[in-house]
Amino acid sequence: MKSLIDKSILTVRREGLYCPAGDFYIDPKGRVENALITHAHSDHARAGHKNYLCSDSSRELLRIRIGKDGVLESLPFGKSQKIRDVYVSFHPAGHILGSAQIRIELKGMVWVVSGDYKPQPDRTSEPFELIKCHRFISECTFGLPVYKWQPEEVIHKEINNWWKKNKEDGKISLLFAYSLGKAQRVLAGLDPSLGIVYAHNAVHSFLNAYKNAGVELPEVKKVEKQKDYNGSIILAPPAVEDSSWTKNFRGARRGFASGWMAIRGPRKRKNVDRGFVLSDHADWSGLIDVITGTGAEKIMMTHGNGESISRYLTEKGIKTEVLADSVFQREEME
Ligand SMILES: [Zn+2]
Ligand SMILES: [Zn+2]
Repeated sequence: MKSLIDKSILTVRREGLYCPAGDFYIDPKGRVENALITHAHSDHARAGHKNYLCSDSSRELLRIRIGKDGVLESLPFGKSQKIRDVYVSFHPAGHILGSAQIRIELKGMVWVVSGDYKPQPDRTSEPFELIKCHRFISECTFGLPVYKWQPEEVIHKEINNWWKKNKEDGKISLLFAYSLGKAQRVLAGLDPSLGIVYAHNAVHSFLNAYKNAGVELPEVKKVEKQKDYNGSIILAPPAVEDSSWTKNFRGARRGFASGWMAIRGPRKRKNVDRGFVLSDHADWSGLIDVITGTGAEKIMMTHGNGESISRYLTEKGIKTEVLADSVFQREEME
């Protein structure tokens, strides 16, 4: 099958998506001259590039992610900037604070790269914006009909009820959630009247950026040794699930907040008492609504379950292509 990637706007290279007319990459691997970054998750934002361009509200998070090296510039959402022959702008993707879709225009032709996105509203990221385009490059992490999200209020209530019950039983609530985005989203929904909220340093390091962006979060204390944590809730990244760090919290009830909790497999694999289905990605119907809503004639899929969506869209007469998974990895813990 002939590739649907039009060489004049974006092409797939080893480092990722490349725009020859603007001489930049989007969310590249390796070391490149010019990198446009959709958002600050580590599978999109890597250290080592020379020049970075991101959304204004992504800037502080991206600096934490890439360290002190690299020239970092940013644009407000919706503002167009000319880079060589193309016009580039960032538009809210609703995934985490500052997350952007990147719109590229060349001679009247418009391509949009989704990054990770979520049309469902939440309290910690800018609301998703639907953009009309000719080509849409879509992530499809949860591209199976089995994935169907409930409103976040429902999940926040579940988490607060779980915490309340654990407190009544004299237990610690140890809740694992990805340190950037998911953890802050969980925090924003906690009921601080229930008890003290603690977080691992990895979660803490991103809190200021959220506060600076005006996101309301409860008071979050740092975890220190030799404290009595009974009745409190502690947010921690999945990376420390089996580490010695968690041994401080003997007898804690363990929860896990992730879209992957929607299916039995991950819930069985994880050493947790309770799964909360909270995802920062579009579910199946969210993907379909956005993809068809863009009006794009051709859709390119990255990040995960592209085959099912592709089949569905093909039946509806929309052209699709699933891009190589070796270039576009999905984030298992988001
Ligand atoms: Zn992400
Ligand atoms: Zn991702």
